[in-house]
Amino acid sequence: MTDKEMQKLEEMYQYYNYRCFVCRGIATNRAHILGQGRAKRHIYGNEVIDNILNWLPACDRHNDLIDMSNNQIGAIEVKAIIKSDISAEEKRAIIEEIVRENIKRKEQKIERRSNL
Ligand SMILES: [Zn+2]
Repeated sequence: MTDKEMQKLEEMYQYYNYRCFVCRGIATNRAHILGQGRAKRHIYGNEVIDNILNWLPACDRHNDLIDMSNNQIGAIEVKAIIKSDISAEEKRAIIEEIVRENIKRKEQKIERRSNL
């Protein structure tokens, strides 16, 4: 990781007070909203994948919950917001909202499965 990347990572953790985006527990990971596999990089571009707005702090339990690579419509939305001309603050607010909605959906899916 370059110094610049380290700095960006630190900035992200600081913004969230080193707390997990989901449960506010101690953050131990950087979760990517859009995953960083090679295929995803090809689809969304490095500019999006490596953007600080594509990262959220997570504890060990909630890293996967933040990932929304499997929600194609949501993922395209996140990409469009990151690339748009609005302020970083506005971008972050909208992206957080989308991620929270997606987390709710994912949790409901998990609950439904465990009720079968
Ligand atoms: Zn958590």
